[in-house]
Amino acid sequence: MTKPVLKIVGGKGQHYELCVLDFNIDIESGVCSVTLENGQADRSKACSYCYAAYLYKKDPNAYRIKTVKESEFKKIADKFNPERKEILLRLGKNYECGSKETRTELYQVLELSAKYSFRPIVTSKLLEFDPKVAELVKAANGIVHISLGRDQDEVGAVNRGSTNRWRLAQALKYLRSGCPTQVRIVADVTMPMNTFHQKVYQLMGSKGILLKLAALISDN
Ligand code: SF4
Repeated sequence: MTKPVLKIVGGKGQHYELCVLDFNIDIESGVCSVTLENGQADRSKACSYCYAAYLYKKDPNAYRIKTVKESEFKKIADKFNPERKEILLRLGKNYECGSKETRTELYQVLELSAKYSFRPIVTSKLLEFDPKVAELVKAANGIVHISLGRDQDEVGAVNRGSTNRWRLAQALKYLRSGCPTQVRIVADVTMPMNTFHQKVYQLMGSKGILLKLAALISDN
């Protein structure tokens, strides 16, 4: 089975000063791991609002884990950041980065981020509390960023046991372990905060919530 190699790609932060994301990486390819069940992918299980779902393949065997090479980190750091100032690297742009399938690769990415002065933003729905991830994120001066929404819009993640309540519990464990942690709530900003939003706000505090986004969600 062919394994694609992980690439570090430019982010909006290189073109738009208000965006802090300088670079992006995805550890998976083919299809997001939220769609996996018993190793088989079903892209219809992608989150209903996913802007990257058009990239996902129909083939149930399309899921691939990328090979992480140090040379890629060194090449990008030498080209864009020879003085090794900190630059922001988002994980999990178009695919998950916190699934158990890619944990070895996540560790590698976090270790290389620290070595080459990338500050990782670990964006995930599937990431459970993993003390090693917490330590590596801290060492790289990064942040764990847990994505929250509504269970009914995130069938694949929920099928894997990652309900929104479970995700909030993982975020709290990271926070309480001393790892910088935020959550992002995908919600309709025209609607009042619901009980879950209020609970998130109460538990995470105002500094623990990065954004409340308007999503393309409709009950109709
Ligand atoms: S977890 Fe993120 S990348 Fe994966 S399907 Fe949902 S919105 Fe898309």
